[in-house]
Parts: sequence; structure tokens; C-alpha cells
Amino acid sequence: MATTGIHHVTAIAGNARRNLEFYTRTLGLRLVKKTVNFDDPGTYHFYFGDAQGSPGTIITFFPWSHVASGRLGTGETQETALRVPEAALGFWLERFVAMGVSHEPVATRFGARTLPFRDPDGMALALVAVPGAESEPAWSDGSVPEEFAIRGIHGVTLLLAEAGATAKILADVLGFAEERTEGAVTRLRSPDTQIGGIVDLRAVGGFPRGRSGGGSVHHIAFRAADDAAQAEMVRKLETAFGIRPTPQKDRTYFRSVYFREPGGVLFEIATDAPGFAVDELPAHLGEALKLPAFLEARRAEIAARLPELGDTA
Ligand code: ZN
Repeated sequence: MATTGIHHVTAIAGNARRNLEFYTRTLGLRLVKKTVNFDDPGTYHFYFGDAQGSPGTIITFFPWSHVASGRLGTGETQETALRVPEAALGFWLERFVAMGVSHEPVATRFGARTLPFRDPDGMALALVAVPGAESEPAWSDGSVPEEFAIRGIHGVTLLLAEAGATAKILADVLGFAEERTEGAVTRLRSPDTQIGGIVDLRAVGGFPRGRSGGGSVHHIAFRAADDAAQAEMVRKLETAFGIRPTPQKDRTYFRSVYFREPGGVLFEIATDAPGFAVDELPAHLGEALKLPAFLEARRAEIAARLPELGDTA
């Protein structure tokens, strides 16, 4: 069983309803949790993923209605790639044309056919055709046939001035191993998972720093098997790198620490447990507005302030 790799990617969106519609109806992911930003409960926090919201399949959003668009630069995630079976790429290309999804021609990267596209907020995403992905479990509600459905995160590309220090943390602390370099991109791979197993570091030197906003990735979360594994990662960050992560925060569905890696990207280390079925039955994930215990007393006030989702949820 995998104990390393990407746990989830969290990004910033604008309109909540548009975000929800795109990830469920266009991309066919499951809404596995509808909650609020624990630090800003006037904002939704949507979690999309596979049937269970397995680590490595989760992409999450804070939709802020009036957020300004981000501007890509160093210290940021440049692209989030999702896995699909090889035979699915034609289906997705046709679907993006039919649904007016902004996309680029299919390209080959690290030997894999890749379809880059953008979500309605301009977030850079890609579908990567992966041999054998058809045998991985997939969620389907019927809008995307199961044989073509997204199989979770493939990897992320980080845009950095310089890749060395970031690569060292990924290798020494987070369980990745350097695989190979293609042009300006160094690929690191988790040895024990396919899903969420790749981090590409694109070193670009003196490129301007990014400005976070709509369409930007807020942070990348990496997996820790349990609290002890997370504590060991924190110890290594402190002793070998002089980086002191935040105290552990209870995010209800996992327990997390956060730190900014030397290249400027916000990293999180999240435990696999307890998962998304902790407060909802697996068959009903994402159906009700879920609040952490400390916000439950304010439910009526919070629910009244949240934006309208129409018939999407
Ligand atoms: Zn997170």
C-alpha cells in the first residue's frame, strides 16, 4: 500500500457554482465533500475525487466570488495533470471541443500523450494518457463513461527559479526519487504509487514571482501514512533543513502541517486517515453541507452567507 505521493491539490476558484459544475459535470469527478474553508467559513471548500476520495485523487477548491485572477510565476504550481486511460484521450478531446473547454493540441511529454486544458478560472490542467490506467478504479455517474473516466492526479509541475533545494526536500523528506530530466524539467517519482506519484520541477531562473489568485494552486499536499510518519517528516524538516512547519491542524478528513518549501511553494503533509467517510456514509459523500464541530453552532448563519449553487449540488 502506498504511503507517499501527492495527497491532494488545493486551488483558488472564482464563482462556486461554475467551479462545481465544471469538475462534476464536465470532468465527471465525484464531489466527495462540501464544507467550508475552516479559516474563512464564508467560503465553500469543495473536494472532488474518486468514489471514496482516495488520497491521490483529490483536487479541492476555495471559490472566492470576487477573486482577481492569479498571474503565473516562480514559486507556484504551473500545471496539475490528471490520469486517463490511453484510449480515453480522443473522447476527452471531442468532449472539450463540444463543451467549449479551452485546450491545446495533444503533446508528448516524458513519452506520454498529454492534453493540456484550462478550467473556467484559467487553472492549467492536463490529461495524461497512461498505459494500464483502464484497470485502475474509476468513479462514474454516467456523464463520463467509466472506461474514459479520470483516474486521479498524475502529477504536478512546479515553476521554480532553481530546483535543487526543492528536489532535496522531495527526496529526503517526502519519499520521492529523482527519475530523469527532460529539458528544463526534472521529474521526481514516488516509488510506491502510480496515482499522485509525480512531481516535475521546471527551473526557469530569473522569471518573475507568481501572484496568487483565481486559477492558482494554493498548495500541494503530500501523504503521510499516519501521525507518526508525519512527525518523522517534520523532524527531518527541522533538523536537516531548518524548516519549522505549522503545528498539526485537524482538517476533519486528515491531519495536516504546512510549510513553505525553499522554492516558495506552500506544501502540506496530510495523513491518509481518517478519510471522507468520517462524517458521511460512503454512498452519500458530498450531499450535505458538512461543518467541523467548532463551527456547527453557527450553521444557520454560515449556510445563509454561502453562495447559491442552484441545482448543481
Ligand atoms: Zn490542503
